[in-house]
Amino acid sequence: EQQKLKRLKSSPSATLDGLAVELMANIDQPEDVKEALQENAAGIGLFRSEFLFLNRTDLPSEDEQFEAYRKVAKAMKGRPVVIRTLDIGADKSPAWLHADSVNPALGLRAIRLCLAEPPLFLAQLRAILRAGRYGPVRILIPMLASLGELDQVLELIDVAKASLDKDGITYGKDTQIGGMIEVPAAALAAEWFARKLDFLSIGTNDLIQYTLAIDRADDTVAHLYDPLHPGVIQLVAHTLKVCQRLKRPVSVCGEMAGDPRLTRLLLGLGLRSFSMHPAHLMAVKQQVLRSHVASLAPIAGKLARAGRPERIQGYLERLNG
Ligand code: PEP
Ligand code: MG
Repeated sequence: EQQKLKRLKSSPSATLDGLAVELMANIDQPEDVKEALQENAAGIGLFRSEFLFLNRTDLPSEDEQFEAYRKVAKAMKGRPVVIRTLDIGADKSPAWLHADSVNPALGLRAIRLCLAEPPLFLAQLRAILRAGRYGPVRILIPMLASLGELDQVLELIDVAKASLDKDGITYGKDTQIGGMIEVPAAALAAEWFARKLDFLSIGTNDLIQYTLAIDRADDTVAHLYDPLHPGVIQLVAHTLKVCQRLKRPVSVCGEMAGDPRLTRLLLGLGLRSFSMHPAHLMAVKQQVLRSHVASLAPIAGKLARAGRPERIQGYLERLNG
């Protein structure tokens, strides 16, 4: 049994019809790399950088951040590491933020906060760019809603690069830049985001929250939080289709990616890159290994066009049967 598990971990992750599927890990802090490597993750698909900023009264310096990012890049030994820029403001608010938004989930959160505080954002961008010398490090921008925000972000990345050049500090010159699709408007406008970015990553946790108007953290409405709502599926399917057409790499890094009951649906809708908590990697890999995507795609397409929950469940059972 032990032997079998070892073989499963080291085997290439491909479908029965020979499609390579990238299975990556989400981590919250550098120490989590150990578990990601144990589970043979193809890379870090989401490094939530918030840990550096929470539970403290001051801000982490550029150097402190650089050390944390470099540690992860080095430990992953050439496998990609996607570092998400600061995503705080809603459920995760440090003391120094003095956050008193009327509605934190719709307020000055994530990239909105970073664009309002350029020195804070520039320090993080410089730290990530510098870590790019130690492996294929990528930058991921959370909570993008408008193209104007993206333009501002790209401009600030150029400013960070120019300041590093001026200081004579080396960095990853060709660091890829990606954006999270987790606001419904961004999913609908995925084409224009994809054209300006190197890759997209669908954050289904927030995408579901904002699409269904259900607070992720509110227990009283938790029963209404539904990844299989036709509105959610259509937004995911649309984003995947756009990326396929534009040949833009896209992954899903929300909880949906780590749910083995949804692996075949996502494969059938065209997803080839999943990022999840390392604990789910083997279960999802098992699904990938026994899936034949060419025969899943038509059923997944029907599911994405269905409306009634029982029809959707019916197609899901056919996919998983
Ligand atoms: C998401 O929203 O799906 C996501 C991956 O980010 P987080 O859970 O950190 O908001
Ligand atoms: Mg999110």
